[in-house]
Amino acid sequence: MDVWQGLVGQTEIISQLRRLAEANAARYRKPDPSADDASADSPSADDASPVLAQPTAGDETRVMPEADPDSDIRLAHSWLFTGPAGSGRSNLALAFAASLLCPDGGCGSCQSCLMARSGNHPDLRVLRTEKVIIEIDDVRDIVAASYLSPSISRLRIQVIEDADRMSERTSNVLLKAIEEPPSSTIWILCSPSEADMLPTIRSRVRTVRLSTPTVEQVADFIVTADGVDPALAMRSAREAQSHIGMARRLATDADSRARRDASVLVLLGIVSSSHVAKGAQDLVAIAEQDTQAAATLRTERDRSEFFRQLGLPLDAPVPAQYRAQVKAFDESNKRLIKRSLLDGVDRILLDLESVGRDALLVRMGVNDGLINVERAPEITAWAAKRTPAQLVGYLDAIAEALTRTTRNVTPLLAFEAMLAAVIDKEAVS
Ligand SMILES: [Zn+2]
Repeated sequence: MDVWQGLVGQTEIISQLRRLAEANAARYRKPDPSADDASADSPSADDASPVLAQPTAGDETRVMPEADPDSDIRLAHSWLFTGPAGSGRSNLALAFAASLLCPDGGCGSCQSCLMARSGNHPDLRVLRTEKVIIEIDDVRDIVAASYLSPSISRLRIQVIEDADRMSERTSNVLLKAIEEPPSSTIWILCSPSEADMLPTIRSRVRTVRLSTPTVEQVADFIVTADGVDPALAMRSAREAQSHIGMARRLATDADSRARRDASVLVLLGIVSSSHVAKGAQDLVAIAEQDTQAAATLRTERDRSEFFRQLGLPLDAPVPAQYRAQVKAFDESNKRLIKRSLLDGVDRILLDLESVGRDALLVRMGVNDGLINVERAPEITAWAAKRTPAQLVGYLDAIAEALTRTTRNVTPLLAFEAMLAAVIDKEAVS
């Protein structure tokens, strides 16, 4: 099982990254004395640092031109992995990091690969944020680490997840580091799109664009990973619109499915303006329950992993010397829950957007390709009471609500404004 196992979709990108990692590993393998030309490909002792190249102008739009096996294999210093939330961009970035650290290009079973997978590789540093914004001090820390020599590998890999969550000032701290990195350091940034990064950073990274995995790819993955019934996996992947994490939750947790359905029913139950305030309150309550449930699940998993790393049993009192660490861990989890409420609100908005899109399709006489197939009769009846223009207005209201929640409008107000746009046209008075 190599480091690429368990990733969803992205077949072409993975095959290019794999070739790049394997070629990079091959360069530093001891020359095989039986092969005549092996020495030509192997660097001499004083040329031990990897051959790295900065992206050149015009390269940004091409994915890994060096991955061509016939060309000189060179690695860019700085990478940007882009893809929508749930596309698996961070997992792919971490797999690439592990493959570059592995002496065999990502075998998945050596000491290096095991350390990388458990998050304990001394030459792999990952910055994840628990907040809406990445703190400048956290970036200063990871930048300082980038100047250290690798301890056990030939390379040091620095990953920043959600790199779009940096202010301009923070981005500039990073910019200096990726402009002139030591030859053994590789940066991998992740963000939803290139547009989320400053142009100065964009021009210095090689971009790898992930595509949204297909519903079938996500469903296959869930069937394999979680042993879920294929029909349920397909429905979950479709309803989650290929968001891998969300699809897994829907497929494995009946409560998540019930909450999604409840939010859809809130929308379909809005007839007159008297329903709007109550409907918005119900949606906030669903978002809170959903957030709490997701955070509890994640916290329990992370906490048991954290305790395992410390070598502590979960059910015994924490020894005094570890109390500060455990307290810091629990505090950071509280911040995580706060951020997830916004994610939960966004999730509901995306679910309700899918209902609006289905309604518009049905209204135009198209019955194929619906997302909420199981609620098609209710959506059809609902759509019949609204004009296409009103349904388009509703979709605009959702887009507006999605930007509002990022500007700190309360979820309640954002939901109210959105629901007010769907009042049954005959009921307006
Ligand atoms: Zn390995």
